[in-house]
Amino acid sequence: MRERLFSLISKYNLRANRDLGQNFLVVPDIIERNVERAGLNERDVVLEVGPGLGVLTDALARRAGKVYAIEKDHRLVEILRSEYDWENVEIIEGDALRVEFPRFNKIVSNLPYQISSPITFRFLKHDFERAVLIYQLEFAQRMVAEPGDKNYSRLSLMVRAKAYAELVERIGRGAFWPKPKVDSAVVVLEPKPPGEQVELNENLVKALFQHRRSTVLAALKKSHHMLGLSREDFRKVRSVLSSMPHSDRRVFQLAPEDVLEIQEYLESVGVL
Ligand code: SAM
Repeated sequence: MRERLFSLISKYNLRANRDLGQNFLVVPDIIERNVERAGLNERDVVLEVGPGLGVLTDALARRAGKVYAIEKDHRLVEILRSEYDWENVEIIEGDALRVEFPRFNKIVSNLPYQISSPITFRFLKHDFERAVLIYQLEFAQRMVAEPGDKNYSRLSLMVRAKAYAELVERIGRGAFWPKPKVDSAVVVLEPKPPGEQVELNENLVKALFQHRRSTVLAALKKSHHMLGLSREDFRKVRSVLSSMPHSDRRVFQLAPEDVLEIQEYLESVGVL
C-alpha cells in the first residue's frame, strides 16, 4: 500500500496541497484498525470525505457494500478514476461542506483538518450509525472533553448533545506524508438515540461560550447582543435572569442538559 501510494506520487509528480490539508496516511495498520472499528459488512454504505489517493477508500471498498468518496481536488479525482477499477465506489467531485450527501449509514475518513469543525457539525445533522474519523489531536481532545475539563468548549458541548465520542488512538505525525506539524487521533462517534439527543439553540451556545470561564449570568450580560438584546433590553430582563437555572455556574461546567434548562427558561420569559 505504501509502495502504491509513493508510485502514484512519483508517476503524477504530485505535491501535497497544504490548503486542502493533504497529509496522506502511509501506515497500513492504522487504515486496517479504522476499517475494523467501523465494523463493516456488505450492507453498509460508507461516506468518506477526502479520499486523496485512495488508500483508505480501497480498504473500505473491500468490506462495504458501497462507498461514496467526496474529493475536492480535481487532479486527485482524475487519478482515482483512472487508477482504480472499483465497482462499488462512487467518487463525488466537490466540497464536502457543500455537496448534497448521499444516503449512508457509516462514515470513515482521514479528514482535511481545516474543515474539522464544520464537517463534524454537518455529520451530526445526519442520521448514521457510526463514524471513525481522524482529526488533529488537539481538536479530538476538545471533542471528547467533559464538562469542567480545561479544554471543554462549544465543540465539546455540541458533540455531547448529539453523540457519544471516544478518542480511541493517538497517531504520531510520522504516519503521514508529508508529515504534519502536529499529532493526530482517531475518534469514534456514535449518535445518541433520538430521545437522548439535546436540541440546543446555537446562538445561545455561542453567546455563552464566548465567555466560557464566566458565570452564566455574566456571560449572557457580556454577549447580550448575540441574543438580539440591546443593553437597555438586557437591563430590563436582568432581574428575571437572576432566577435562571445555573446562573451562578461557570459556562465550561455546563452539560448539554443544563444549557437546555437555561434555554427553556429563557424561552419561558420571552428572551429567546
Ligand atoms: N484519505 C486520504 C488518506 O488518508 O491518505 C487523504 C486524506 S487528506 C488528510 C484529506 C483529503 O481531503 C485530501 O485528499 C484533500 O484534497 C481532501 N479535501 C480537502 N478539503 C476538502 C473538502 N472541502 N471537501 C472534500 N475533500 C476535501
